[in-house]
Amino acid sequence: MQASMSSSSPSPEKKSLSDIFNKFADDAVERFPHLKGQLLVVNMDEKKIYAKEIDTQKTGLTKQTAVDYISNHPLTKAMEQDKGMSSAATRDDKHNLKLVFMNESVSPAERDNVSKETEQHLLYVMDHELAHTAIKDGFSKDVKSAYDYNILLGESVADAYAQIRHYQRFGVDDYAHNKYVSPAGRAENFVLGGDSVHFTSFVLDAINKQKDKIDFDKLTPQQTAELARRFALEYMPPKRVVQDLAYTFAPIRNAFRKGMDVGFKALVDKTLDPNADYYTFKFGSLWLSGMLETGKHPDGRPINLPKQYLDDVSTKLKAREAKFEKDGLLFDMPTVGKPKPPSAGNNVVKFNGFGKAA
Ligand SMILES: [Zn+2]
Repeated sequence: MQASMSSSSPSPEKKSLSDIFNKFADDAVERFPHLKGQLLVVNMDEKKIYAKEIDTQKTGLTKQTAVDYISNHPLTKAMEQDKGMSSAATRDDKHNLKLVFMNESVSPAERDNVSKETEQHLLYVMDHELAHTAIKDGFSKDVKSAYDYNILLGESVADAYAQIRHYQRFGVDDYAHNKYVSPAGRAENFVLGGDSVHFTSFVLDAINKQKDKIDFDKLTPQQTAELARRFALEYMPPKRVVQDLAYTFAPIRNAFRKGMDVGFKALVDKTLDPNADYYTFKFGSLWLSGMLETGKHPDGRPINLPKQYLDDVSTKLKAREAKFEKDGLLFDMPTVGKPKPPSAGNNVVKFNGFGKAA
């Protein structure tokens, strides 16, 4: 491990991995002043620690001892052993430290000139982890196991923040389907990976649907954090919905085990079933529309089903989605055509005569 304290060197368009991490660590303490001197961003891929500065009084660490501290940290060891562990955030209250660990590997050929796609991916993941350390409710409380529903609030805050920052950094028209942080990605991982604690699809979908109303350039760092928390609390599904979706979509997981096409068709049938309930459709449509958009199965291979079938699915899904959007919670419920405007005049009781009451 080596520690990198940033010194601002203006870089042209070409960005190295260090440029990206240094800027992220600098911006993070600017956006969240309470992290100043106490935030370490560790990139396992390069064995480097990035920090704007280290507050020795508060943390008891210097640039040199921070290297030893991180080298011996349990998360360093865990990530060395498990390359599939992509990232993590934690805090050390004894040292007043907030830690962001990144374990995503970037091809050595890209390190001096990182592609836009790689940069966007790294920022998605880092913003997610930063939100855990920096935003109210980012760290979940009362967690009793790795599957505890209480974890979902912190993950929802973190994903909401990463999505909002993506639009803020790159604009609302930019492609915003990160492989982890996206409605379809989180839905797929919930059913196929059994990961209910990162099931943030409804929260992310709500942000995507309201993104054109938000003036991302005008959001202050505090408002950005506050908005992420609002979206999380408002759109995170209740515990019962999470349980029920796990049960409802278990047959879909089994179908995908038999083959990608089998799974895809089962998902189509489940989602477009006229008797599908509100949450089943809401969940299935997010997953299915993501797959139709990318044209890829969960294993990354292209969906090779007849074009006519896929077009038909697409048309039906779009029609039902439009109805779902329009009716919201009243989806598939009888509603009156057009609400009557309240009648004015006839029923209004006038109290003008009080003055003359005897
Ligand atoms: Zn997380």
